[in-house]
Amino acid sequence: MKVSIKVFSAMAFTLILLSCQEESYQEETQTQIEEELDAIFPQGQKGSEDLFTGNAYNYGLVPNDSSLTTLIGNVYFEPGARSNWHSHPAGQILIITSGKGYHQIEGQPKQELKKGDVVTCPPNTKHWHGASQDMGMQQLYIIPNTEKGIVEWMEAVSEEQYTN
Ligand code: MN
Repeated sequence: MKVSIKVFSAMAFTLILLSCQEESYQEETQTQIEEELDAIFPQGQKGSEDLFTGNAYNYGLVPNDSSLTTLIGNVYFEPGARSNWHSHPAGQILIITSGKGYHQIEGQPKQELKKGDVVTCPPNTKHWHGASQDMGMQQLYIIPNTEKGIVEWMEAVSEEQYTN
């Protein structure tokens, strides 16, 4: 009985130790992300797993309406996160405000993105965008002429396509 109490105590101690380490690791990671990624806007809402691989968060800035017909928002991609393949009926403009990531139009090489980059994607052009493997990315998106439509979602970007 004494032995089993000792074993139990040792296990409990180890668990406490592990949970402390886990917590400090998470704090460290969070601090690192905050230092690396200059967030201008609130994080926003997590994107659907059906449309994104990994964790991506959308924060709306200018809602779509009939007078401006322009949609503006911010997406924060955690490292490794990316959109599915998709197209915009009237095209899209991306402005990178922090971090590192990629934009790829189907059939073209993957384009590296960093803070300050501005990328345009023509109407009805299949593409994806997301963070790099090691560092997240903050991007503003502008979708003009929303009367033509906003987005048409397609299949996920495979690991091979992402790392290619
Ligand atoms: Mn897009």
